[in-house]
Amino acid sequence: MTAQSSAPEKIVVVGAGMVGHRFVDELVRNDRSGRFAIELVGAEEYEPYNRILLSEVLAGRADLRALGLPLPDADRVLFRRGVAVDEIDTDARELLLSDGTRSTYDRLVLATGARAFVPPLPGLAGPAGAPKHVHVLRTLDDTRNIAARAMNAKHAVVLGGGLLGLEAACGLRRRGVPVTVVDLDDHLMATQLDRGPSRMLAAQLRSLGIDVITSTSVAEVISAYDEIVAVRLTDDRLLAADLMLVSCGIRAESGLAARAGIAVERGIVVDEELRTSDPWVHAIGDCAQPPTGMTGLLAPGWNQADDLVALMLGREDLDPDAVGDDRPDPVKLKAVGVDLVTMGVRPSQALDDDRVLTVSDGGGNRHVDLVLRDGELVGVTCLGFPDVSAALTLAYDRRTPLPADPLALLVPAGAQGGVAATVSPMRMPGSTTVCRCSAVTKKQIVSAWEQGATTPDAIAGATRATTGCGGCKEVVCGLVDWLNASDPAAPAPSVDTPVTPRNTPVESTT
Ligand SMILES: Cc1cc2nc3c(=O)[nH]c(=O)nc-3n(C[C@H](O)[C@H](O)[C@H](O)COP(=O)(O)OP(=O)(O)OC[C@H]3O[C@@H](n4cnc5c(N)ncnc54)[C@H](O)[C@@H]3O)c2cc1C
Repeated sequence: MTAQSSAPEKIVVVGAGMVGHRFVDELVRNDRSGRFAIELVGAEEYEPYNRILLSEVLAGRADLRALGLPLPDADRVLFRRGVAVDEIDTDARELLLSDGTRSTYDRLVLATGARAFVPPLPGLAGPAGAPKHVHVLRTLDDTRNIAARAMNAKHAVVLGGGLLGLEAACGLRRRGVPVTVVDLDDHLMATQLDRGPSRMLAAQLRSLGIDVITSTSVAEVISAYDEIVAVRLTDDRLLAADLMLVSCGIRAESGLAARAGIAVERGIVVDEELRTSDPWVHAIGDCAQPPTGMTGLLAPGWNQADDLVALMLGREDLDPDAVGDDRPDPVKLKAVGVDLVTMGVRPSQALDDDRVLTVSDGGGNRHVDLVLRDGELVGVTCLGFPDVSAALTLAYDRRTPLPADPLALLVPAGAQGGVAATVSPMRMPGSTTVCRCSAVTKKQIVSAWEQGATTPDAIAGATRATTGCGGCKEVVCGLVDWLNASDPAAPAPSVDTPVTPRNTPVESTT
């Protein structure tokens, strides 16, 4: 660290979740002159962890210990774990912390995230609050408590058939608990799916032993001795339940900002430069409401963290390859026994001139919709075709012209001239975004490999690819294998589009 002529500017980050952690990590990586003194305050008792993978933990497919994110450099960051910021005095630029101490800031970054929304249902709301064994899934503690209850539960009700509710339902089922999913909408995952594929998804869930009830909600939670025993549905049916998971969306954690007089609507309102109504306070991640809207997803939050660091450091040299495009991110259901990926436009949203191709196999619970616009793939719904979902995601991301017959996209990997050729690492342009969570391109991965990161773990450390939802792991491993196989002893040549490492046989483009 070089000597500073003036005292460093003090940045306090409130919230050590995935976005607060990313901001601090990015700031430390880029502030080489030690211009900033950084303090990270996190209310959770734990070191920063990968929240996205909690559904995998609930399903028993990931271990809690695998969730940890790299700890901030203790020489650069004062990390206060298990401490909440209770109040902000924006005039004095001072914080009151839950341990009774105070802290000052030059600039404050709010990354307070979101909390699960619990509707005010009879039996849940009221002075006594929810009875025992009614849970939400947001934190590591929630996950542990649900998993513990699952050991004895005889029947679980999941209220909410969205992405998270279904991931949790499949996780509980994998733990041997009979599950019923109840959703007010007339079909599951209504935000992402049209009715046809949604019906097939419901059939697939039923085949896994998960009951699905739609167009219905929970009217009342019934308890005895402060433990849930049943739920009464809006159609008056009674379902026995000794475990309930409420998965009805999230609400931005914006109370701290609101109490300080900072403008709050659905979230903490920020402008394009992620500044709140107070010029010394920024907000990023699930708590922030930027002009482009709120998503509740990780990738936009991580982009905001990176952008804010760049703005603070006054750098205008953001790598354009690293900036994601404006298309909605692909959404993958991380559920055991179901392979579902959706992205972009779905058939019911297609324009008159769009071309919609559908392959539907009701008996096999398999369904693919492709929406093409001006020769590009602008929408995919892919249920039950694990062999092609990764390839379709890449084709969507690449925005490159499609095969003359777009149905060739559905030929499973490995088949001649089909998807295998489309996603071959060699033919993938350098600008292809491989990891959407961290906005890492093929070019950046090749460049990290050239600098010695020759294993998937080393690539993760150097670029952060695979550290979010993990959906890109297969592609990153494929790239690493391809690079290592091409020339194990020497780095690949500089990256152009497409990138071809030395000694790699050129593949046919047909
Ligand atoms: C089970 C699950 C699965 C998910 N799967 C996906 C997925 O597949 N893809 C995807 O894109 N997104 C997914 N998400 C959403 C994703 O996890 C969030 O978008 C992301 O975590 C947002 O990060 P954040 O830092 O803004 O908020 P959070 O991760 O919620 O972190 C906020 C932190 O701030 C702390 N905090 C709040 N108030 C204070 C205070 N006053 N003082 C100090 N600390 C405070 C909180 O305790 C928390 O630790 C999933 C979420 C869950 C729960």
